Amino acid sequence: MKRSRLSWWLPILAPAWLWAGEPRLELVWPTPNTAYAEGKPIETYVQATASGDPASGLFGCARSGGHQFHEGLDLKPIKRDARGESIDDILAAMPGVVRHINNRAGESNYGRYIVIEHAEVQPPVYSLYAHLSAVVPGIKAGDAVKAGQVIATMGRTSGGGTIPRDRAHLHFEIGLMLTRQFQSWYAWKKFGSRNEQGLYNGMNLMGIDALDFFTQFRARRVTGLVDYFAQLPLVARVRVATKVVPDLVQRYPQLLTAEIPLGGVAGWEIKVSATGLPYAWKPLSSVDVIGYRADEVRFSEVDAEALRRCRCKSIAVLKRGQYQPGRDLETMLQLVLGLR
Ligand SMILES: [Zn+2]
Repeated sequence: MKRSRLSWWLPILAPAWLWAGEPRLELVWPTPNTAYAEGKPIETYVQATASGDPASGLFGCARSGGHQFHEGLDLKPIKRDARGESIDDILAAMPGVVRHINNRAGESNYGRYIVIEHAEVQPPVYSLYAHLSAVVPGIKAGDAVKAGQVIATMGRTSGGGTIPRDRAHLHFEIGLMLTRQFQSWYAWKKFGSRNEQGLYNGMNLMGIDALDFFTQFRARRVTGLVDYFAQLPLVARVRVATKVVPDLVQRYPQLLTAEIPLGGVAGWEIKVSATGLPYAWKPLSSVDVIGYRADEVRFSEVDAEALRRCRCKSIAVLKRGQYQPGRDLETMLQLVLGLR
């Protein structure tokens, strides 16, 4: 009888992911440092910039007094060789397929880096591992990797400036690829230098706060990334009058809050996070955008307080009492919807 009593309780105690019928996401910390898992303070695993402030290695408005954005999490080494170089293994955070390896360290601010696409994860986010000293021999684009598989060695390679030996670290990102039309945007911008990284250029990869995701996942406040995206705090909700169906929503249909009507769309209502991430997409019909000019962008909601706190990204600016797209929102819309 004890058994049946237990089985009465089990469903109540079971976490939501069992109900969803989906396998639990395999999520692995990307370095061998166990400090985070042990609940130790951030200085035991986050690498600070020259400022010495560990918070400068976190994701977000972490630098230059909150005015400079850092799109990743910088993790420090725990192992060094006789010359003091970091030798920590770098591990794939989730199962996936290697999509990009840049072995010419001088050609990117990321230095030598790897991008993995997590095709089995919902939505199929990428993870990125930068400043590597070496990639495990034999690993190449197209290879499937398991969660926790060693893919590289931590280092301090960087195309822009040098990272001193004592600040070697892994720059780690989880995020979304904005567009498959990146090259046309890049050419339009006339940067004056070649795009050496194709779709895996950092400007086309938009990160989330990976540490926050790990923490919420471990605490079972979210069951995976679909949940995580859905609970992101909104800074602005914008409506855009366009018939374009961006490849972003085709690649990440999990971000759609309603199905795309068979007759096509007349616009989108997009929820934007403090870092400019377009994390929820609602298709609009022609009735929803009556009175809009083609490609017009209007704000349907702005969290003024959240906007004030976000000092390193320009999402919305007030002009004559009206919100207009800020620089970073404009860039995102150029990339994702082709508004140029
Ligand atoms: Zn970094």
